[in-house]
This record gives sequence, structure tokens and C-alpha cells, in this order.
Amino acid sequence: MDATEARLARELPGYARRVLGALEAAGHEAWVVGGWVRDALLGRPGHDVDVTTAAPWRETAAVLRAAGMTVHETGTAHGTVTAVVEGRPVETTTYRVEGSYSDRRHPDEVRFVTDVREDLARRDFTVNAMAFHPERGLLDPFGGREDLAARVIRAVGEPRLRFEEDALRVLRAVRFACRLGARIERGTQRALDACAPGLAAIASERVGQEMDGILATGRVAWALRHEFAVMRAAVPELAPMEGFDQRSPYHAYDVLEHTARVCAGVEEATGGLPSPALRWAALLHDVAKPACWSVDDGGRGHFFGHPGEGARVTRRVMGRLALPREVVRAAAALVLLHDFELRPTPSSTRRMLSELEAAAPGQARPLAFALLDLKRADALAKAPACRGYAAELDAMSAALRRELAGGGVWRVRDLAVSGADVIRERGIEPGPGVGMVLAQLLEAVKADEVPNDREALLAWLRW
Ligand code: ATP
Ligand code: MG
Repeated sequence: MDATEARLARELPGYARRVLGALEAAGHEAWVVGGWVRDALLGRPGHDVDVTTAAPWRETAAVLRAAGMTVHETGTAHGTVTAVVEGRPVETTTYRVEGSYSDRRHPDEVRFVTDVREDLARRDFTVNAMAFHPERGLLDPFGGREDLAARVIRAVGEPRLRFEEDALRVLRAVRFACRLGARIERGTQRALDACAPGLAAIASERVGQEMDGILATGRVAWALRHEFAVMRAAVPELAPMEGFDQRSPYHAYDVLEHTARVCAGVEEATGGLPSPALRWAALLHDVAKPACWSVDDGGRGHFFGHPGEGARVTRRVMGRLALPREVVRAAAALVLLHDFELRPTPSSTRRMLSELEAAAPGQARPLAFALLDLKRADALAKAPACRGYAAELDAMSAALRRELAGGGVWRVRDLAVSGADVIRERGIEPGPGVGMVLAQLLEAVKADEVPNDREALLAWLRW
């Protein structure tokens, strides 16, 4: 073992060691494999530990239970059980290779094998096809360690065959390239371009998970610029953005390059921590521009209605990709309002908050900050003349913080009076009339015509 392997042995968590130890004491070879090994080699040992073993899953379960661990049968069709050790889950899978993939629809059929090298050979990329054992060291038959050090994504085996077996790997290649800041090896890249259309046949929730993973790396701008054939195959709605000349003095770039800049811009605006909804909104905010394009008599391009249509496309795309409902709603709200004409006044701020509340109930507060980040990134990604607007956004963000520090008024329940006050002061019966009065009152407060102060509101009611 060299110094790096010794470091990995030290860093391997005790609970993972116990799983390996129990299996090997019972005579079954076992290794740590995949993401933990890759990330630990990079000096990031926080990844979940996955174990691969020669033991058939029933045997694995029996051995680990006998060692006092709780074992859940989480995927026995693929030979996977999950041991819970010291409160930490360890997925433990029998050495296996995948079925024939003849129809590309049943990657779930597996065949169990006895040689760990066969198991490593079925894995997607060299950096993901390494196994580690605290005494035996690194098992790296495909040069994953070197590729990792050089930041190269390379398919295990013949790239074309591997992508034909499972087209999802096309998208995974892009995800790992983004994640590691890696380049894609030439033969693997050629196969990506050839096999990207195969993504159309992949279950959309699997595509959704990988797309979400790409966005989560914060480097989707790279993927848009360098791997657009893959991105377009994963989300066909993105295709018209490429090369779309906006013929507008406000835009120096085509919609695709503009979008890439906005995606990078929201990372910058948030110090690399945008919410998933903001990342999706950045990707999709102008997706409907090509469809909403028209030219006026002066030859200038316009995009009337593109935020509303964009929000519809956002809901359709993200819904199809099976992303969480709350995230879909939030992203669609941001897309819908990305061109909202905001001014640094209380009334404009409150209008923004209530529009967000209507589009994504309960999420107005965090979304308001996300919307400002999106608008800032959007402004910086337009023509140089638009960049001054980014400075104005500082004033808007100050207005928003002031508004929220004062409690914020954008819902009826934020008013300093209640339905009971309306009934008493106006002498009306309980019923829909009360809600209408409250709604009018809210409008008056939002417009800054009356302060949200109990005495002032009661006086307004008494008029
Ligand atoms: P992450 O942190 O993103 O989860 P990971 O390496 O754990 O990284 P997973 O998608 O969880 O990635 O997969 C675990 C391992 O299983 C991978 O490292 C890879 O070896 C293998 N693998 C997963 N999906 C595929 C696939 N479609 N084709 C081939 N091998 C795969
Ligand atoms: Mg994983």
C-alpha cells in the first residue's frame, strides 16, 4: 500500500470496516466501491459507503444480522441489502453484471458473478470503477486513479457499447464531468455525441435525477456550452435556444449562451448555494423565448408572453422529470416573474411578494431573494448597456430586507387587523363580504396608502 492507500485506510469509517470485517470473517470477500473510493482519493471522504461482496444477498443479510446489524432488503432483485451500522446505512451488493440490455428497457436484469473485477467492469466510468480494502489497498483495473488525478471521464470498456447498453450513462458522463471539473476523453466524447439520442428511450425520472444532479454541481453552464447535444437530448425543450439570434439591442448573445451566463450568474450571486428551484429557473427562464418571438416594423425582436409560457414549459419539463412538487412550483414562479418590473419601494416590493405567494403559496419569502438573484444574473448576462440594472438591484434588495424586517405585508394574515375587527367595525355579518373587505384593505396597505398599523387600519375600516 502506498501513502494514499494508507490515508484511505485511516479515513475509512469504522462502521464500514465492521461490514467488511463481518463478511470476510464469514469467508466472503468484500470491498468498498464506487463513490466513496473516488471522493476519498480526491480528499473528500464524506461520501456514503457502498460495499460489494462475493456473498449472495441472503448470506450477506444473515452474516450482518448475526453481527448485530439491522439489515433492510432494499434491492434484493439486484443483490442489494442495506445494513444500518452505528446509525449509518451501508448498501451492500453482491458482485454482479447487468443483463443483456437487448431492448434497453430492462437494465434491471442482473447476473451474479464471483470475481470482483467483473463487477468493476460493468461500472460506467474508470473513476467509478475502483474498489478499496483497508488491508488489500486499491483495486483499479482500468486506471481510474490516474484519470481522476488528470480529471478525465473515460468509459470503462468500449464507450459506444456501454452507452448503447444504457443511454443514461451519456448524461452521467456529463454529470461527473461537471462534478469533477473534468474533461471527457476523446473516444468517450465521440460515443456521447453518437449515443445522446438514446436518452429519449430512458425513463424520464432517471433522466430527471441526473439532470438535477448536473444542476446541483453548479456547473451546468459548462454542460450547456460543451455538451449541448447531450443536454438537448435529455430535455428536448432546450433545443430551440441554440443559435437563436434575439435581434434585440438588449441582448449580445444567443439564448443558449445567455442562459449559460445566467446559470453561472446565480452561482456567483449566491456564493455557490442557489436553491434547486433557482438553478432550474435559471436554466429554463428563457426557454419559451424562441416560441414567443416576433419582429416589429423596425426589425427589432420581441418576446411577448415568454415568462408565462416559460412557466408552463417549466412545469411540464420538471413534472415529466418527476422533480419534487414544491421545487417545480417554486421554479415556475421564478420563471413567471423573472421580468417583473421591480422598483425599490415598499409597494413594489409587496406586489412582488404577493405575486410570488400566489404562484407558490408559502414560499414568497425565500423566493423573493431568489428572484433578485435571478434578475441580477439575468441583467449581467444581457448586453453591456443593461448591466447598470444590476446596481439598481442592490437598492431593491435593501427594500426587500427592510420590508421583511418590518414583518412584511403581502398576505391577508399579515394585516394588523382580522376578520373579527371587520365584522365589528363595519357591522357586517360573517361571510365572504369580510374577506372582500380584508382583500381591499390589503391592496391599500400594499399600495402604501395606509400603514399596517392597527389604529390606522381600524380608522380606515370606520370610514
Ligand atoms: P454520487 O455521489 O453521485 O451518488 P456515486 O458514484 O455513488 O456518486 P451512483 O449513481 O450512486 O454514483 O452509483 C454508484 C456506483 O454505481 C457508481 O460509482 C458506478 O460505479 C455504478 N453505477 C451507477 N449507475 C450506473 C450505470 N448506469 N451504469 C454503470 N454503472 C453505474
Ligand atoms: Mg451514490
